[in-house]
Amino acid sequence: MLRALNLTKMFGGLAAIKDVSVTFETGKINAIIGPNGAGKSTFFNLVAGAYKPTSGCIEIDGQDVTHLRCDLIARLGVGRTFQTTNLFDQSTVLDNLIVGHRLRTQSGLWDVLINSSRLQREERRCREKAREALDFVGLSHLENRVIADISQEERKRVAFALALATEPRLVLLDEPAGGVNPEETVGLAALIRKMVDHGLTVCLIEHKMDMIMSMADKIMVLNHGEKIAEGTPEEIKANPIVIEAYLGS
Ligand code: ADP
Ligand code: MG
Repeated sequence: MLRALNLTKMFGGLAAIKDVSVTFETGKINAIIGPNGAGKSTFFNLVAGAYKPTSGCIEIDGQDVTHLRCDLIARLGVGRTFQTTNLFDQSTVLDNLIVGHRLRTQSGLWDVLINSSRLQREERRCREKAREALDFVGLSHLENRVIADISQEERKRVAFALALATEPRLVLLDEPAGGVNPEETVGLAALIRKMVDHGLTVCLIEHKMDMIMSMADKIMVLNHGEKIAEGTPEEIKANPIVIEAYLGS
């Protein structure tokens, strides 16, 4: 599903991602762990096309997407959530989804200016997809609720719905259980499992080790931008390099 080859991203003199090669398989939960600043979110930004790599390449289902714009990568089937869930607090849940969908898949004002009938069609479709996604994450009853009035866990579910509304095949989840309590984490984990059961491939960044170790099929460990290990949860737990660099700290 996803292949990175010798991926490097420099910010000035800092290698946020350094020569990382990894393959994530279709229909699995692939996790990325590592200390703060290890390059996890940068890796997602590279896959989603928000950042362009300094060198190396990225393939999705065998297609080279290294130089594609992020809206085209979204259309190809990559959905994502962000580490901090940016939602419009004064708008409703449904409106957030519709606007989010538009922002992710349209290339800009030009589209609106040149093609208004296509746009109306897309608008209807977008609303339909938003409702389907809300149903999937169990929030249909909150469709008309203002974001400011829903809980942190519900906001996380809205973020999932945002990622799903574009009908991705691959979803990148950046700390989806950040800032929610243990019971809510269980609920979100069940939702991630449901995504996989529906044929999605998941790529998951998370600090909650219990969640990662119980859910992931494969884990990649990053440290200072470098891949220091990869394997099953059992392999990672037993890996001395990982224990020293991360789990032990
Ligand atoms: P993680 O998600 O693992 O905590 P990040 O990928 O956010 O780490 O960051 C990795 C490193 O890259 C950090 O040192 C961070 O400061 C740097 N970095 C990330 N994004 C940018 C950016 N847009 N400009 C400059 N430096 C950045
Ligand atoms: Mg991060």
